[in-house]
Amino acid sequence: MQLKVLGSSSKGNCYLLDNGKEALAIECGISFKEVQKAVNFDVSRIKGAIVSHEHGDHAKHVENFIQAQIPVYMSTGTLHEVIKKFKRPYLSPLMMEAGCIVEIGNFRVQAFDTIHDAAEPFGFLIYHPECGMVLFATDTHYLHYTFAGLNNILIECNFRQDILDANVESGRLPSALRARTMKSHMEYETCKGTLLANDLSGVNNIVLIHLSDGNSNASEFRQGIMEETGKTIHIAESGMTLNFNKSPF
Ligand SMILES: [Zn+2]
Ligand SMILES: [Zn+2]
Repeated sequence: MQLKVLGSSSKGNCYLLDNGKEALAIECGISFKEVQKAVNFDVSRIKGAIVSHEHGDHAKHVENFIQAQIPVYMSTGTLHEVIKKFKRPYLSPLMMEAGCIVEIGNFRVQAFDTIHDAAEPFGFLIYHPECGMVLFATDTHYLHYTFAGLNNILIECNFRQDILDANVESGRLPSALRARTMKSHMEYETCKGTLLANDLSGVNNIVLIHLSDGNSNASEFRQGIMEETGKTIHIAESGMTLNFNKSPF
């Protein structure tokens, strides 16, 4: 299984878990043309998509996915927000509920609630025999839960408090944005604590996602979290492809 990062920032998010035969799209925040290119125009192998919440950087292109016959799953709250922007009212995403399992090809997806300034935001636990148990959590101030048996992790590491504070101090960032960021996105220390609260013994890759452009420091985040967890840490960047298997091989 490969993880393909098509976008991982407030400019647009989309990740593909793709083994060449079947693929799952996580987030629809990147133009569908880019998604087509990423699967060599073999769109039929994308068995489905899951969307965490309605913000444009995650959901802007949902309609194009559905038009391409890809089932797109999201919470009821997210769905109600997303369809407000649809140009074709006869198209609809599919609803999923927290705690229930949705089967998408050989992927099994279970949603859980996250903390964000959105209607009903979700994170996802994704299982596939090739990549094992994958945690996906973005745009969340905090995670209420810990997870057993993880093999790969994608987690938001949006900002660091001291960098954010310095940006407000210097006038680079309005203070209202500081408050919003702190309530809706995951801070570096929170990310570290969240990772350490989980059993990481079976984890092969930790991918830090959705870093803020101005309030983060990718190399320090990578180094610091590598030292604390002892794991392989990647910073998600558009165009990146990683081997994402259950075993390290
Ligand atoms: Zn976002
Ligand atoms: Zn958001």
